[in-house]
Amino acid sequence: MSNSSVESKQNNPNITDPIESLYIHVPFCTRKCGYCDFYSLSSKVADFSDFYYGLQAELAATLSDIAQNDLHLNKLKTFYIGGGTPSVLPHDVMTCIINLIRKEIGFAQDLEFTVEVNPEPIGHKTVEAAIEAGANRISIGYQAKQDSLLQKIGRLHTFADFLTTLNLVRTAGVENISCDLMFGLPDQTLNDVLESAEQLIELEIPHISFYSLILEQGTLFYKKYAEHSELLPSDDLERKMYRELLDLFEQHQYQYYELSSTAKPGFYSRHNYNYWSTKPYLGLGPAAHSYYNGIRRGNVRSFRKWSENPFNSAELEPVNFFQAMQEYAMLAFRLAAGFSPDKFKQRFGIDQPFDAELERLLNKDLISYNSNIKAYLLTEKGLDFGNQVFMEFV
Ligand code: SF4
Repeated sequence: MSNSSVESKQNNPNITDPIESLYIHVPFCTRKCGYCDFYSLSSKVADFSDFYYGLQAELAATLSDIAQNDLHLNKLKTFYIGGGTPSVLPHDVMTCIINLIRKEIGFAQDLEFTVEVNPEPIGHKTVEAAIEAGANRISIGYQAKQDSLLQKIGRLHTFADFLTTLNLVRTAGVENISCDLMFGLPDQTLNDVLESAEQLIELEIPHISFYSLILEQGTLFYKKYAEHSELLPSDDLERKMYRELLDLFEQHQYQYYELSSTAKPGFYSRHNYNYWSTKPYLGLGPAAHSYYNGIRRGNVRSFRKWSENPFNSAELEPVNFFQAMQEYAMLAFRLAAGFSPDKFKQRFGIDQPFDAELERLLNKDLISYNSNIKAYLLTEKGLDFGNQVFMEFV
């Protein structure tokens, strides 16, 4: 099928869907973790007022862009303050940011509002301020139970600090809690990973995101381990860690709903699900991304450049109708619900145009068709070689 014939007939639903999600990137951390590629500066030199005023200016310009393009912005259904480390913001800055968004866009009654928190001994007041101002979901950077591992990857917290933060969040009335867990770390054993996960299960954490270490260029870990992969768990061991985590979570009635995410019923991340469903969202702050009006905006990874010109320093990438369909298919394979031709048709108004791609993946045993749910899903082999599946749609 030619790209242009499809484009000429249809509109990207990302343009016609109402905008109901917002992400704010807080670009500050107490200290840089050795593996991390997210854009962040030391909170010791942070200018929090410039950050607030930058957000205010970027929001005003974004709202005017939305109005000029006649787009539909609803009260937010999902709001996510991530980073970086949002909990390093002074508590009054956190409150002002939340009040700004409430005033300028508004919150829907069923809002899912997540704030990322590092379980460091600082920031407790900020976490309480966020909850008081409306945050109802807290995502905690737990990573591992073993203090020696936490130290090795450059985290500033201990397991005891994590328990303190968890207690604070629950005492403040938030039950919708997510924890990040890492595997494939230097010197980490299978037993370490399972012990870390079992601890979260025992603590009844309703949502867990589990990520393997990725060596990102430019990080301390890249310098240290890119040429010394023997210091990291082997690929086989890393896959075993992943599989055993999936089994463990399943045994404890967690529902695996995305490649790196599992949750108790009713606790999946609605915000992230919007990303994976290619719904529109706004992103504010340096290095934040937006996707609305069929355009991806990637904000500049420089606090200085962003604060000088918060809206116009972004790189723009228009996404045409065919690209939008490719992206939808690719992301659908990340989800346990898989790629459903019926849902595709509902979203794009035409039959899915990827017969050849699906056939190739079926022949390689990377995907299978499940006739009960009428969707294509990753096979066991596809779970290990997900990238081969995603590449078919790039
Ligand atoms: S705290 Fe989070 S964002 Fe900050 S450096 Fe560590 S991993 Fe990256």
